[in-house]
Amino acid sequence: MNRSVAIVGAGVSGLTCAVLLAENGYRTVIFADETGSRTTSAVAAAIWYPYDAEPFDAVIAWSLTTFERLRALASEPGTGVSMLELRQFARAGEAAVPEWALTLGARKLRLTETPAAFTSGFALTVPLTDTSIYLNYLAERLVAAGGKIRGNVHFNALGEISSAFGLIVNCSGVGARRLVGDHDVEPHRGQVLLVANPGLQHAVVCDDPPLMYAIPRAHDCVFGGTNEISDSREPDAASSARILTECSRVLGIEPPRVLRERVGLRPFRKSGVCLNHERLSDGRAVIHNYGHGGSGFTLSWGCAEEVLALAQQVQN
Ligand SMILES: Cc1cc2nc3c(=O)[nH]c(=O)nc-3n(C[C@H](O)[C@H](O)[C@H](O)COP(=O)(O)OP(=O)(O)OC[C@H]3O[C@@H](n4cnc5c(N)ncnc54)[C@H](O)[C@@H]3O)c2cc1C
Repeated sequence: MNRSVAIVGAGVSGLTCAVLLAENGYRTVIFADETGSRTTSAVAAAIWYPYDAEPFDAVIAWSLTTFERLRALASEPGTGVSMLELRQFARAGEAAVPEWALTLGARKLRLTETPAAFTSGFALTVPLTDTSIYLNYLAERLVAAGGKIRGNVHFNALGEISSAFGLIVNCSGVGARRLVGDHDVEPHRGQVLLVANPGLQHAVVCDDPPLMYAIPRAHDCVFGGTNEISDSREPDAASSARILTECSRVLGIEPPRVLRERVGLRPFRKSGVCLNHERLSDGRAVIHNYGHGGSGFTLSWGCAEEVLALAQQVQN
């Protein structure tokens, strides 16, 4: 059996799959156009919360697996993972607490804990991954397990990957649209501002339009956001102004200093996350793992464990 695996993509999906495969005895090499801070993954906030990904049942199952893996990493130094209270609000009526959130200990927020801009909300403590640390942590863990990362490599088709690799894992995010011609993949553009942390102790999130979130990290705070179908990776001044005004208004603070504007393309897939396998015309197995939308971090370990199980199955 050829236990050499080529993974396309160095975002959170590709890195997590690569770590698991390498730690389970596969000779693993990641090939990617963009690596590190150039990926969409580096732009994410990136808090654990199922959002903008389908299908519901599978998303919740993968998310709950990931929750446990990230919670364990939060107690290890140097991973960039910590636990943070997330407060999720509604702009009208009573915010329904999802059943899966109740199993994680969610509680309804009191009115005194609810900013004037909202009518109700609930809170739960979830993993937060600081992407500037966590993506490097995954890369180093991969290398420690014997894996490699090759950047600045672009494929027009999976068949271009050297036949030295008996297995291919496709974690190309929004790139899957071109790479495998999947027109179900839609770029859900997200713009965020990194601002000086105004002293926020918990994350404030509201998915009701206009989308708004403020997520404090060790050295800054992420203000968001936008979600529209667009391929543009250029920051847009009007969106930045709106995000800064709305977040400051909700938090009841003076607009903080903007450190950076960032844009990423959430790889949403209309028919749901693509996690399945097929064979190339030369007989090699391909496992697809893309289309995680606004939940790539939230789904990462659950999906990677399914990729590992599929790899063991298709090569037996
Ligand atoms: C503003 C914003 C906020 C977000 N917040 C959160 C959050 O709080 N929590 C959460 O869970 N998720 C969040 N997300 C979503 C999350 O960032 C994505 O779901 C996740 O990054 C997708 O990871 P990926 O590894 O699948 O894709 P990517 O990170 O996009 O990586 C794709 C990789 O494939 C490579 N590639 C693509 N095509 C080719 C090709 N043809 N040849 C070679 N290489 C190729 C790319 O170069 C790249 O390395 C957010 C996203 C945005 C934009």
